[in-house]
Amino acid sequence: MASPIINVDHLDFYYDYKLPTETYALKDINLQVAQGEYVVFFGPSGCGKTTLVYLIGGITTGKNGTGEIVVNGSDVLQLSREELAVFRQTGIGIIFQNFNLIPSLTVLDNVALPMTFVGVPQEKRRTEAHNILARLGMETYAARYPTELSGGQQQRVGIARALANNPPIIIADEPLGNLDSENAEHVLKFLKELQEKDGRTVIMVTHEAWSVRDADKIIYLKDGAVIKTQTDGALRKKAAEEEALALSPDLFRQLYPEVSPKEIMLKSLSNLLLRGFSVDEIKRFEFFLEERLSGKIDAATFESLLDRPYHDEGVGLWKQRAQKIATLTEDILSEKKMLEDIYKELEENPAAPILEEVSSLREWILREYSGRVNDEQRARLNEAIAGRLRGTINTEGFRKTVNLARSRGGVGFSIRTTQHLSDRLESVLMLGRAGDMKDAISSLSQSAP
Ligand code: ADP
Ligand code: MG
Repeated sequence: MASPIINVDHLDFYYDYKLPTETYALKDINLQVAQGEYVVFFGPSGCGKTTLVYLIGGITTGKNGTGEIVVNGSDVLQLSREELAVFRQTGIGIIFQNFNLIPSLTVLDNVALPMTFVGVPQEKRRTEAHNILARLGMETYAARYPTELSGGQQQRVGIARALANNPPIIIADEPLGNLDSENAEHVLKFLKELQEKDGRTVIMVTHEAWSVRDADKIIYLKDGAVIKTQTDGALRKKAAEEEALALSPDLFRQLYPEVSPKEIMLKSLSNLLLRGFSVDEIKRFEFFLEERLSGKIDAATFESLLDRPYHDEGVGLWKQRAQKIATLTEDILSEKKMLEDIYKELEENPAAPILEEVSSLREWILREYSGRVNDEQRARLNEAIAGRLRGTINTEGFRKTVNLARSRGGVGFSIRTTQHLSDRLESVLMLGRAGDMKDAISSLSQSAP
């Protein structure tokens, strides 16, 4: 590889440095990004992706860290305040997950703002900003304010702003999470174009396996460390497929008919609950989950086993995470009885009306969703849930409908929300359908709260 445009060397980073609450966020990170490369930083939520890209982009300054981050020949951690200000505006363009637009400025002024900081004359700023907006199909919105735009449009303005001053490197921090599928496709295509047409270096941060397809390299992060780097396209495809499999028991069953339904159920449920964890951790979790499902251990014991250190025969999850997963497991178990009843009824009479159950399931999967849901969206959700219950659509089909733009007949939820709702639905469906493991879970109804 020619000398890399980004070289991170032995980077450590702490929050609350030298305070009693000190926690490391990054531990001995070493990585290279070549000029013109498209690299994905992949890892579960909380693993340090944002911390890392904010350090590379000079947004977080380095006094709480050690090591080197050399970008285009200069060590970002050593730049003076003045040098850093220029680097931020011209060295790297950052696309933020939450768009980060300034509400009191028009679209045009938001895009022109980074040029103001480096002294581009007003006329040129306006022309440039117009050109960039045109490239994103947003020129007619130049005079509007961010709050007058849809999420997808705001994200495009965010991308336009990242392109101001023509930086050679573009970093996108989870740019897809707040978008519906159509807008997410646009953004992915555009990132690829920035690499292929413009010859820019692109870094995309994501925790969604399907979105890595265009990358030349994937750097996997976990608990603040790089655990793996992948450059082989075939391997990459396989990783994405495996992740998809973990979430789609139907497909799994087709591909691996020799695996018992009970095993599939445990694997899928474990994968849903522990996305992003290692094979060993998941194996151990699966074991405890089965104990919990069959009523051999109670909810409190289950939680303490999740939290207990790995070397002490536990799963070794962080306390907060252990609590969250234990609560979710109990939550799912509480819906199990109803699901079993529905499946029994549908088995006897496939045309049985299930609207009441569908509505109750809908409310259950939406329980942690705080956004608004209108009547049309509710009706479309009902239809999709009924489709899953009756088996007329698969997991993928459910997600497509929920994520599809409303103008196209979908529910129009973001990818993040879609994933969350689909996870909740699939986990109860799985338990409700696990008829063949009746023995294993027979005592469940007595032990469930
Ligand atoms: P990701 O982007 O992968 O979700 P982050 O970089 O946001 O991860 O966070 C990494 C870790 O650092 C997490 O455990 C998070 O709780 C912690 N963290 C992030 N920001 C702060 C902060 N400002 N103060 C203290 N801890 C933080
Ligand atoms: Mg983040």
